[in-house]
Amino acid sequence: AAAPTPDAPPDAVLLGGLGKRYGSFTAVHPLDLAVPKGSFFALLGASGCGKTTTLRMIAGLEPPTSGSVRLGGKDVTALPAYKRPVNTVFQNYALFPHLDIFENVAFGLRRRGIKSVKKQVGEMLDLVQLGPLARRKPHQLSGGQQQRVAVARALINQPEVLLLDEPLGALDLKLRRQMQLELKRIQTEVGITFIHVTHDQEEAMTMADTVAVMNAGRVEQMGAPADLYENPASTFVANFLGTSNLIEAEVASVAGGVLHLTTAGGPLTLPAARCAVPAAVGGKVLAGVRPEKITLAHRDDEQRIPAGRNRVTGRIADSSFIGVSTQFVVDSPVGAALEVFVPNVDRDQRLVPGAEVVLHWNPEHTFGLDAAQDID
Ligand code: ATP
Repeated sequence: AAAPTPDAPPDAVLLGGLGKRYGSFTAVHPLDLAVPKGSFFALLGASGCGKTTTLRMIAGLEPPTSGSVRLGGKDVTALPAYKRPVNTVFQNYALFPHLDIFENVAFGLRRRGIKSVKKQVGEMLDLVQLGPLARRKPHQLSGGQQQRVAVARALINQPEVLLLDEPLGALDLKLRRQMQLELKRIQTEVGITFIHVTHDQEEAMTMADTVAVMNAGRVEQMGAPADLYENPASTFVANFLGTSNLIEAEVASVAGGVLHLTTAGGPLTLPAARCAVPAAVGGKVLAGVRPEKITLAHRDDEQRIPAGRNRVTGRIADSSFIGVSTQFVVDSPVGAALEVFVPNVDRDQRLVPGAEVVLHWNPEHTFGLDAAQDID
């Protein structure tokens, strides 16, 4: 990598070949990762993929078996947890039950021998909007409020990096959604680098500016949420971040930056730039399209579909009304059932199970993946 320019701030976190083995089992393969200062970074992956182990190695709670951790440009690999400029918020909050909220938040300052804590604690309680509850004990707060206390208690130490390990895991769905926005607001306000571990793709995409998707101890892909969603580089990432409607295809020709594909349901086109693998004529690819990109037309209206659209015929197998939209499952000659989300404005009453339909979409919305990978 190029040497950083003198005026570029060092990355908040820089992992160099950081890895963890337990005996012969590799929990985290040697990982190179840079987290820019001030960013909200999410480590996203299914249970057991190594995200917590990675976080614990950054915190100094788990010794790595290879590689290094740099925080703010400084190598901290050999430093114990308490000497690192990081704080961790855990899922179970770990608040002190016998101390009130004010004293829970003041704890880090008092431990450092700071006497006048009132102003700082007050500001921190305002930041997490708990000022009026300062004299309550943790058991007198809701789960979401306790979570905010845990965040305030960690932030008052002014860490360079705040690590969050599934901090919203114990909350019900509605509260989780609220707290996601709340944490995002707090991060924007304080400007401290947050690294958030979660298995919930919606949570990672809502909150983070950069998401690293982990699978089996490796980062499979990293990027802005919209970029990962629109341009997944692997079937794992495509499926982990939503429905991908993967269609088996073969490259028939390549011309003008466009791949012309043949499928069991007819031809499709795919921008070459959106194909994650180099594709040659005769090669196999998986063509994907997100469900909200597809328009669902009744077969009787097929003539009205504009030229140049990708199209696949099928029959509606199932539909579920989900408020703002209806989710359709369509059986089609391309193989796997395809999913389509149709907004519930001016809903076409003919679109019911059994109806013959045409799915069509702008070819620009098609992405291409390596067909040799396993589809999980
Ligand atoms: P979860 O969301 O369930 O916590 P995770 O992605 O955070 O999952 P890790 O906790 O990082 O996963 O664990 C990664 C892998 O390492 C898992 O397969 C786990 O079983 C294994 N592992 C973790 N700690 C140990 C240990 N002390 N000894 C042996 N294997 C371990």
